[in-house]
Parts: sequence; C-alpha cells; structure tokens
Amino acid sequence: MPVRPTPPAADAALAAPLPVLGTDVMVPLVTGGKVPYAALDHAASTPALQRVWDDVSAYLPYYGSVHRGAGYLSQLSTDLFEQSRLTLRDFVGCRPDDHVVFTRSTTDSMNLMAATVPVGTQVHVFETEHHATLLPWRGAEVTVLPAPRSPYEAVETLAESLTGRDPGHPGLVCVTGASNVTGELWPVAEIVQVAHAAGARVLLDAAQLVPHRPVDVRALDIDYIAFSGHKLYAPFGAGVLAGRPDWLRDAEPYLAGGGATRRVTRTPAGVAVEWHEDSTRHEAGSPNVIGAYAMASACQALSEAGPDALVAREEALLRRTLRGLAEVPQVSVLSLLGQDSPRVGVVSFVLDGWNSSHLAAALSAEHGIGVRDGMFCAHPLVRLLLGSSPDQPDQCGAPEPLAPGERPVNAVRMSFGVGTPVEHVDRFVEAVAKLARDGAQWRYRIEAGRCVPVR
Ligand code: PLP
Repeated sequence: MPVRPTPPAADAALAAPLPVLGTDVMVPLVTGGKVPYAALDHAASTPALQRVWDDVSAYLPYYGSVHRGAGYLSQLSTDLFEQSRLTLRDFVGCRPDDHVVFTRSTTDSMNLMAATVPVGTQVHVFETEHHATLLPWRGAEVTVLPAPRSPYEAVETLAESLTGRDPGHPGLVCVTGASNVTGELWPVAEIVQVAHAAGARVLLDAAQLVPHRPVDVRALDIDYIAFSGHKLYAPFGAGVLAGRPDWLRDAEPYLAGGGATRRVTRTPAGVAVEWHEDSTRHEAGSPNVIGAYAMASACQALSEAGPDALVAREEALLRRTLRGLAEVPQVSVLSLLGQDSPRVGVVSFVLDGWNSSHLAAALSAEHGIGVRDGMFCAHPLVRLLLGSSPDQPDQCGAPEPLAPGERPVNAVRMSFGVGTPVEHVDRFVEAVAKLARDGAQWRYRIEAGRCVPVR
C-alpha cells in the first residue's frame, strides 16, 4: 500500500536541519540501477555531521601531541583537547567538579565505571539493558531486575529491589535513557529519585539519549553519564564517562601508563607512582584529541541548531514512520513500556512470515536502505519482546519464509537522526509495504551467517 503523499509545506518543515556526510552516496541495486543510500541505522553509528568533518579537517594541519609537547602545535592541541572536555561538560550539564573522562565508547565508559566502583558496591540493573550496561559488573554484587512493562513499573520494580538496602554500602543503579531496541525513553528523573532515596547512585547509559534529546545531568541529579561519539555524528573513536569525582579519583587508574601519572620514582622494591587525581587519571596514553574535538564540534552544532527544533522534527519523522508502518498489517512494532510511550527515532519491528535477516537484506539489496537486523546486543530484551527462548534455533541469515505461526528470533531496526532526509523515511516505509505485499524480487542465500543476494 503506497504511503499517502504529505503536502509540500509539511515536507519543507521536515528538511534536515544539519547536513551529514553520505546522503549523496549512490549504491547499486541487485534489480538494476542505483539509488542514494538511505542510512537508517543511526542507533548503531550515525554518519558524521558535515560540520564535524569541516572542523576536524581544518584542525588536522595543526595536529600535535597532547599534554606532552613544548611546541606550538602541541600546546594548541592540548588547549583544543581541554576545551573539548569543557564543551562536553556543558553539553550534558555536568556539575563544575564532575570529572569528564574521554574513553573509546560507551562500552569502554561502562567498563571504566565497573573498574572504579568501590569494593562491595551493589549494582542494580534491568535485564533489558544493552550488554554494555548489563555485563561489565563482574566484581560487584549484581541484582538483575525483571523487565518492566511500563515506566511506572520500572520505578516500582527498582524501588522494591532497593527497599531495605543498607545505605552504608555503595549502591549503583545502571539504566538506559533511551532503549536501543525500542527507542523508548526511560523515566530517568523518577529512577534517580528512588535510587537516591535508598542511598544509591545512578549511572545513565545515554548512548541513545544524547543524540536525540537534551540531557541535563545537574538538573536530573544523575551521578554518572556515558555516551559515544560515533552515535553522536562524530565517528572518530571517542566516548565519555562523566560524573562525581570521588569514586573516579579514589580508584586505581583504568589504564596504567604515561599521562595518568604525576610522578614516578625508582624504589628499592621497584617503582612508586603518584597518579593524577583529575580526569586524566583514567586517560593514560596519548589522548584521542581528534575524537574529543569531533564530539565537541557535534555538541556545538546540535546546541546551535536548537534542541527543541531538533526534537520536534524527529517526532514528526517518527510519527510518519509509525503511521506508515501501521498501514502494513503484517508489521508488529516492538514496545516494552507501552506503544504510547515516548520514544526517540529508533523503531524495531517484525514482519509476519519473514525472517528479519531476509527482510533487512532485501531492504538493502532491492531498495538501497541500510537498517540492522538481529538482537541488537540486548538479547534478553529482544527475546522477551519476541516471545522466543534461548533454546530456539537461530534463524539468522535464513532466507526461507517462516512457517505459518512461526515467530522470528530477531528483529529489524530502523533509526534516524538530524541529517536524515524525509525521503529516506518514506522510501523505507514504501519498501516494507512493497516487500510485505509482493515478496522479495530476488533470491537470497546464507553466506558466513548473513543473508545475501544470490549473484
Ligand atoms: N548502550 C546502548 C543503549 C547502545 O545502544 C550501545 C550501542 O549500540 C551501547 C551502549 C554501546 O555503545 P558502543 O558500541 O559505542 O560502545
């Protein structure tokens, strides 16, 4: 069923406010011809903002070592790196004494946090979290909370779990701001209130939140926040962990090496080290100044574009997507907290009778649309949403139609952002409708566990 055209005035209001690289890349279709690539996998990695690329390119001739050179370019690069730290701090509204540690990614930030929590910390985490947030707590006492089915239930489940905990023990609640599977926003303010009332701190996994919504750490009273540059239009290998200084300052450095040390002396027994007590304590080695600067540049561009306008446009694109998918009766959109829950531009779904890998392969090969299929590094959540069990055979890659009544074990996820042209969203909805109605126009086979077109 074709998507009803919207009036041109509405389309003008939906013009992408911030240009990104790659919207003019043409990709071949198996059925012949070429189309502009529709990058609808922002939840995995966003394209770079044009502004980020321009800023990084302008800086590169001036590139130099950070924190370790007397030369002009080293000083300039050090200033840029430290200025980027301040920009990131302001962008998420950190408190003045918060540490802002540059890491490689959200996964790295979560592992850094896990390595720096005090001994005996009790960690509370929902089973629905991304593996980066669910798994790093190996040395801690971990309580895994069952999946809530509404924002209210999320807060209640946490409150119950925290009841009677000894506030003398360090406690940490790790929770996502927006789900990478359903895009749904979690009740962060309420979770912080409940956690703090029980003497526990909150670590916010903001990997999917920061690219889509303004976040104010101080106003929300969040203790720690983690996010990634490559999901924030700045794919240059940097991430951030920011938050309260004490645990970070008191912990052993995450990595041992140059840059984290104030003084190293030879002793009869070996060496003695005085470690830095600021954010650089956990940044041993030569810092990734380009990654940090790219993130700062992206934050500046998003701030200048105005969060309200960005959110309004994203919500309009989201409505358009969901309205279009609702016209395809075979589509089921996945939701944990209720279909009416607010969400960011991330939508996962299944199509009756289709293996999701097959559908994603056909969207790519026949329509030039890049989405993701699978369990999105949140296996317990996707199994719950699809009603599948860990024992069910993995259909990954299988191009055959599913048997009547057979449920797929994985899903398709489309996700977009500030540079996504409205045409990409429309093409996606039309392609899903066409595939549901007419089936795939090509044959597919499994190659190395992936569904690929037969050539
Ligand atoms: N948390 C969430 C909610 C995510 O979506 C992701 C990545 O998809 C991560 C954490 C891990 O991020 P990264 O791959 O940048 O380490």
